[in-house]
Amino acid sequence: MGFESFLGNTKAVTAVREILASGRVPGALLFAGLDGVGKKTLALMLAKALNCEKRPAGGDDFCGECPRCRKAEEFLTATRDDLSRRRESKDAQKRTDGLVYFDIQLIEPITRYILTDQIRQLRQVAYTHPFESPRRVFIIDEAQTLHWQAVDLLLKVLEEPPDTTTLILICPNAYQLRPTIRSRCRLIPFSQVDPPVIAEVLAEGRKLTPAQQGLGVRVAAGSVAKAKKLDCEDFVSRRRPWLDFLDGIANPAARSPGDIDWRLVFDATKALADNRHDFEVTLDMGYSLLSDLLHVLEESPEPPVIHLDLRPRLAKWAQKLGLEGLERFKSGLDQGYRLQTRNVNQQLGLEVLAIDLAAGPD
Ligand SMILES: [Zn+2]
Repeated sequence: MGFESFLGNTKAVTAVREILASGRVPGALLFAGLDGVGKKTLALMLAKALNCEKRPAGGDDFCGECPRCRKAEEFLTATRDDLSRRRESKDAQKRTDGLVYFDIQLIEPITRYILTDQIRQLRQVAYTHPFESPRRVFIIDEAQTLHWQAVDLLLKVLEEPPDTTTLILICPNAYQLRPTIRSRCRLIPFSQVDPPVIAEVLAEGRKLTPAQQGLGVRVAAGSVAKAKKLDCEDFVSRRRPWLDFLDGIANPAARSPGDIDWRLVFDATKALADNRHDFEVTLDMGYSLLSDLLHVLEESPEPPVIHLDLRPRLAKWAQKLGLEGLERFKSGLDQGYRLQTRNVNQQLGLEVLAIDLAAGPD
């Protein structure tokens, strides 16, 4: 395995391989692009390649099997474990006590921020000789969360790039970083992964119908990570109660609330609320349907974003509810979202929403 195994973003991969082949490795790189497209994966691959025992001079790949490639993987696992232990600590001091950085180190936010102590440690280590690898690589993930004091410290490192260390900053959007930081990094942009690649990821070890595959590609929205996690059958079964809910309250044949199949609606609200520990997933599904309903109502020339397979039903529901109804649907979802951390009865909330929507405009 080497860079061949990386999915999508061929331009980013090519840029990284060219850096390796040229032998001129910048002191700092910035990998920017949306979540789930492999920025961290490629950063680790570069870290391996910079240290791989099998890479000849001018080579642009890594083996993934030599002791140093394996070591890079171990370092990353160790730093991940260390970070999660620190996050659990209630004591602010203990969160950054005794930081030790390996030759390949992942630096991520411990609280909401990447803390000043984390970058102070980085600065202390960056100018020393690596312990056992030829080149040290520090991967700063979610660099947009650097505490402002940490940014100042990091800037000092970027102004005097160490000989033995490469920094890889990762963030969703380069413009979330201060221009002074941005301008000192070589930018490698990442984009959404193309549908055929996503379709391949979805099909790995699974048998999918073309309809499931199409739906999966739209749900994953260019993210390999989402595609890997997505279970199309589960998605469709989680969606089903929302469809019953909408079939009930947005039935074009119902002239008054009395015509509505309330049994269907209340069975749906029960099923939706049953998923108590995962209510956020239920709400996300509601939001994605809402977004497509608005899309259809506005007669946008583009097809619905996700639930393309439901197009005729979406049109029917959108027309029945109208913009005003869809706004109330949104308020209901927002309300559920606000209350989800409290111990409230979500089923009751959804029932109130259903009755409200069925009553139509005031
Ligand atoms: Zn190797």
